[in-house]
Amino acid sequence: MTLLGAAEIRELAASLDLKPSKSLGQNFVIDSNICTKIVRIAGVTSDDIALEIGPGLGSLTLALLQSAASVIAVEIDHRLATQLPVTVEKHFENPENLTVINQDALALEDLSAQPTVLVANLPYNVSVPVLLHLLEKFPSIRTGVVMVQAEVADRLAGHPGTKEYGVPSVKAAWWADVKGAGSVSRSVFWPAPNVDSKLVSFTRRATPGDEALRKKTFTIIDAAFAQRRKMLRSALSSLYGSSSAAEAHLQRAGIDPTLRGEALEISGFCAIASLAPDNF
Ligand code: SAM
Repeated sequence: MTLLGAAEIRELAASLDLKPSKSLGQNFVIDSNICTKIVRIAGVTSDDIALEIGPGLGSLTLALLQSAASVIAVEIDHRLATQLPVTVEKHFENPENLTVINQDALALEDLSAQPTVLVANLPYNVSVPVLLHLLEKFPSIRTGVVMVQAEVADRLAGHPGTKEYGVPSVKAAWWADVKGAGSVSRSVFWPAPNVDSKLVSFTRRATPGDEALRKKTFTIIDAAFAQRRKMLRSALSSLYGSSSAAEAHLQRAGIDPTLRGEALEISGFCAIASLAPDNF
């Protein structure tokens, strides 16, 4: 097995006449050390079925194949999805361990095998929706490491009471414990992005409730942070019809109506949602 370096990535791109697409977030990793590091941080073992979103030219895919039992790679770009098995065949002795799916990750509903770990250099413009979608649809994913834009990493791993804490932090916390896992230099990418990147790791935890509660909780989270400088009684007033109705509801749930959403942990949002009507 040989991993892909800068020269191979450029050669591959040239042979495909590939002009990296900004809208698809195509910044390819050209430093194989970072790929090995990501797989190590993710703790991928030979018992794992790894799910990779956006394999691109295959840098991370090859590193994953070295450690996992198998890899499922979901790539939206047809040219890249078609090339990937060819690249893997050239560099890896068990190319049958790779399954490539040419699809939008946001439309992924089921898979033929149950992935246990998510490892991806996510397309930055859709990183949060992709992560939340996969955590929702694939409960077999226990852990993962994803590379995202630095600000998004800080938000995903944000704590109550900080400016980073917001919708991504609380929604991700419904599914998992999320932690920052280090910064990544711009120089490991081609083309170099004009934003910084960071890794986040997550470990799935028992969800605080069922799907009905999750939907209500997420509705309340969206409303609370849509006007994050407002107190909860006022931010949730349109959901309850008036701020006095919202205040009464918050008091019943044991939540101080003068708090802002940014002060509440996921458990606080669940407490509000668990008293909300079913047609909420
Ligand atoms: N993993 C590769 C690497 O590290 O070099 C490429 C990462 S690049 C940041 C993001 C990849 O995601 C691109 O290959 C892009 O085509 C793909 N992509 C973008 N949007 C996608 C989507 N909605 N579903 C699946 N793949 C997507």
